[in-house]
Amino acid sequence: MQKTVQLYEGKAKKVYATENEDLVIVSYKDDATAFDGQKKGTIVGKGVVNNRMSNYLMQVLEKQGIKTHFVEELNDRETVVRKVSIVPLEVIIRNISAGSFAKRYGVEEGIVFDEPTIEFSYKNDDLHDPLINDYHALALKLATKDEIAQIKSMAFKINEVLKAYFIKLGVKLVDFKLEFGRLKDGTIVLADEISPDTCRFWDAKTNEKLDKDRFRRDLGNVEDAYKEMMHRVFGD
Ligand code: UDP
Repeated sequence: MQKTVQLYEGKAKKVYATENEDLVIVSYKDDATAFDGQKKGTIVGKGVVNNRMSNYLMQVLEKQGIKTHFVEELNDRETVVRKVSIVPLEVIIRNISAGSFAKRYGVEEGIVFDEPTIEFSYKNDDLHDPLINDYHALALKLATKDEIAQIKSMAFKINEVLKAYFIKLGVKLVDFKLEFGRLKDGTIVLADEISPDTCRFWDAKTNEKLDKDRFRRDLGNVEDAYKEMMHRVFGD
């Protein structure tokens, strides 16, 4: 599979067309941004970690009956995925309080919830991805009722599969962000990535942060955290 023209360049990835109109190639960069793009930097090797980890996790999810955009890993940074039209919602699942949840509700980080939570943000850079509820998403025609129901049910299932997977590696899955896309025929599939950029991972014993919070909060050892997560998943 060959790249043809570049279709899009995002903050962390580039997307290329291929000869097959139903497939695109994603290329993961080492560029990192945080706080709505205000903080910029490079995390050396991040693109490799995110590409490999995301592809692996998508395959774990496929085995559990979750449809994803994953097709084939080409090399350390590039992957063939199914072309989708992205549903403009960021879907956030939380198992433990952290980040914007802790800030918004004035609670400490680390509170383990009895039940996971779900929330949506409207993917819109000009509006800075505002928090949105189901009814508003419907009113704005971002997705249908049926699609929202499907997305919620898939997101909670993904959480159960990933939580169980990571705890075996000595990692707590604190929270994460998912994006979903529509195939040509309307089928909803998991898209984007699942990586230390989009998940909070805490070491199960020490609560050490093994994710992008090390970059966001200037905690140091950013590259090491990504490498450590790669090591837990692949043993290399
Ligand atoms: N997240 C993401 N992209 C975003 C916002 C959040 O991948 O644009 C992920 C983030 O890494 C974390 C989860 O979603 O795992 C919840 O993030 P939160 O709402 O707490 O926002 P943050 O504190 O990261 O601004």
